[in-house]
Amino acid sequence: MYWSKGSFRNEWLKRLDRSNYAYEKKSEDTFDANFAKEMGMSADTLADLKSICSVGSLRCHPDDQQPDTNVVPSDPTLRTLIQRKKRQDFRAASKVNKNRHDLYADELERLTGGIKPKAAIDMVPEGDVILTINVYYPANVEKFTCVRPHVTLLMTGSHTLAELRDGICCVSDLQVCGEFSSTPDVAPEFISKDHFKSAYFFFEGVFYNDMRYPECRDISRTVIEWQKAYNVPLYSQAKMEDTRFVDLKVKVGFPYLYCHQGDCEHLVIITDVRLTHANDCLDKKLYPMLVHKHRVPTQKCAVCHIYIGRWLTTNDQFAPSNPCLFCDKCFRMLHYDTKGNKIGQFMAFPYVDRGAFN
Ligand SMILES: [Zn+2]
Ligand SMILES: [Zn+2]
Repeated sequence: MYWSKGSFRNEWLKRLDRSNYAYEKKSEDTFDANFAKEMGMSADTLADLKSICSVGSLRCHPDDQQPDTNVVPSDPTLRTLIQRKKRQDFRAASKVNKNRHDLYADELERLTGGIKPKAAIDMVPEGDVILTINVYYPANVEKFTCVRPHVTLLMTGSHTLAELRDGICCVSDLQVCGEFSSTPDVAPEFISKDHFKSAYFFFEGVFYNDMRYPECRDISRTVIEWQKAYNVPLYSQAKMEDTRFVDLKVKVGFPYLYCHQGDCEHLVIITDVRLTHANDCLDKKLYPMLVHKHRVPTQKCAVCHIYIGRWLTTNDQFAPSNPCLFCDKCFRMLHYDTKGNKIGQFMAFPYVDRGAFN
């Protein structure tokens, strides 16, 4: 069964009243009156319910006291508090502390909630959809055959596939090909992303190619030529930059493909589609929005064991192993004199760590 995003959205908008997805908040009285009517209860019953279920009734401290929200009362009766106390005690006993990466990762989604744009033109329109998209790490890495680390991005229906592409960070884009032991300073000018700009998404038998730049090539052609040769039904093609998510035909939860740098293939799964809400981030410019990021262990420099490796050397008379990984500082101190001249014989290749985006 095929569902297009457009049809999800159209079906919703057809069935819902505008007030269901409008951004402006209704006054509390109107809301209460509607709620009571819908539930078939009297205004008095609703008032009773409101006071019994109010947040105030959960308070475990005197009204006039500001509590420390990190301290759980010693004898909590509320289930959530009991759980929290257990967790706190466990943490204290096992000395598990979240590092800054995990703390930040937990906050990713909260940081953007309810943000309104400065200019009205950047407002995500009412009745637009928000998609949750998981982009998995390239499957060609053996290490990732058992685990499936991914990033999760949010996009709105009015964004294009090209905008999603720009939001996907992958080390393949940063690789530098070549040996630079004689000229280490020019290495950064040879980043793959600037040279090989072609890429495509593959959704439901359509290749969406990135054709924004003159250097872009249609890399889906190989498959299409192959199909012609073997007389199998042909896939069609479209441009990534001209395709908005709302026009895309996809199945939720189905694995699709993102391919760039020739053979760096990522699984792409759309896990959710929903209408926007007043509490969502409503600034178009903040999308694609990163809400989950897998953290990859980094490979450290063989000398200082502190900084992430940036250079890989081979046949290196100074290195303890072959090949050997160095951070930029140690690499230069060990291999060049004060004037920057190369000392000794070795080959040096720029190295980009998978954890570069942590
Ligand atoms: Zn990649
Ligand atoms: Zn180092």
